[in-house]
Amino acid sequence: MEVPPPHQPLSNRRAYIDLGVISLLTIAVDGARQTLSYSGRPALADWWYLSHQIDRLKALAKTMNNRESTRGVRRLYRQRRLRVHQFVNTTVRRAIEALWVSGVSTLVVGDLTGILANTSWGRKANAMTHNFWGHRHLIQRVKEVGEEYGIAVELVNERGTSSTCPRCEGDQITRRGRLFKCRGCGLEAHRDTVGAVNISVVFGGRINGVVVHPVEVCI
Ligand SMILES: [Zn+2]
Repeated sequence: MEVPPPHQPLSNRRAYIDLGVISLLTIAVDGARQTLSYSGRPALADWWYLSHQIDRLKALAKTMNNRESTRGVRRLYRQRRLRVHQFVNTTVRRAIEALWVSGVSTLVVGDLTGILANTSWGRKANAMTHNFWGHRHLIQRVKEVGEEYGIAVELVNERGTSSTCPRCEGDQITRRGRLFKCRGCGLEAHRDTVGAVNISVVFGGRINGVVVHPVEVCI
């Protein structure tokens, strides 16, 4: 016998989610004029700080005892992983609660193929895409919390969703930092927004007008 989820959807809107590092979740909701961005920056700062501590302790262990690792080093690794997981858990829960309240019943989540192949995010972000969030953990949390709220979660291939213009569908794109610029129609937008809006365009969304910059949600 299947146990029903503790919550049921309040309506049947769809939301489209682009996963990332600097913006952990960028979300476009059917019928909304702006995307929502849940920043990953606080956890990035923590992660970077602890990484420096780890490097320092490792160098010390090498010099003093000619050892690669120590109990202190392992403790810092655990601490780093735990902090990231806690941050991801809190963020995903806040985001899904907010979506549930606004009547979302389905989440369409871009898988991370695009992110893992992305090399234009700079040294920090690249280091993280491989060992920072652990994208499986992130997706797992989205699925689990979605389930609690009776929200269906569909994973889709987001390949190409950050390199096509959501207004004219052109591919003459310039990206500088977080800025996305279409040389075809002149659209300038925040690139996470473009990712989320394009997932919605490809997977049947109804986004009104073109959304340029996301509303950043602080948790
Ligand atoms: Zn365009």
